[in-house]
Amino acid sequence: MQTLDTLEQLVRICKKCPLSDTRTHSVFGEGPANPTVLFVGEAPGEEEDLKGVPFVGKSGALLSRILEAAEIPRETVYITNIVKCRPPDNRDPSPEEREACLPYLRSQFKALNPRIVVALGRIAATTLIHPDFKITKNHGQWVTKGDTLFMGTFHPAALLRNPAYKKAAWEDFKILKKQLDLLASQERNPL
Ligand code: SF4
Repeated sequence: MQTLDTLEQLVRICKKCPLSDTRTHSVFGEGPANPTVLFVGEAPGEEEDLKGVPFVGKSGALLSRILEAAEIPRETVYITNIVKCRPPDNRDPSPEEREACLPYLRSQFKALNPRIVVALGRIAATTLIHPDFKITKNHGQWVTKGDTLFMGTFHPAALLRNPAYKKAAWEDFKILKKQLDLLASQERNPL
């Protein structure tokens, strides 16, 4: 199994898809090696591309505020994206770009071994949970795959564009917090 450090170095110099021609920095991910939750968005945005760090900028600030309100410390979660390089003009990453980049996410998943994965937005949810996943219909529902629980919810950028979705997103984070508390209590009292 490749270590996170090795993977990050590979992503830094990766040229497996055309997004390498237009990126400033690839954005590998950020968080502890044993996260409580793995959050996966779709792709770096403009500020992420400039800084090489995921979920900075307005979307990242909103995600931080939601996590804080839900009492989920951001430093306990790992945050990354389906594709590690910014698509020009923030367009959706193409199926070919997603396919080229997914092996990195699969390797991150193996290295991090999270109990919970939260897909942020349509691209992440249709890639990780189900091709027919509809955020407005299926958000907040747990799907079990192996030993891991998956949930899809709204991308923070979508919440900034459509504040009407914030209430539903907040309910999803309350469901997430409840599950985290349950897992923590099971770890403390395994019998
Ligand atoms: S998006 Fe992924 S596959 Fe494409 S160049 Fe960047 S790291 Fe490589």
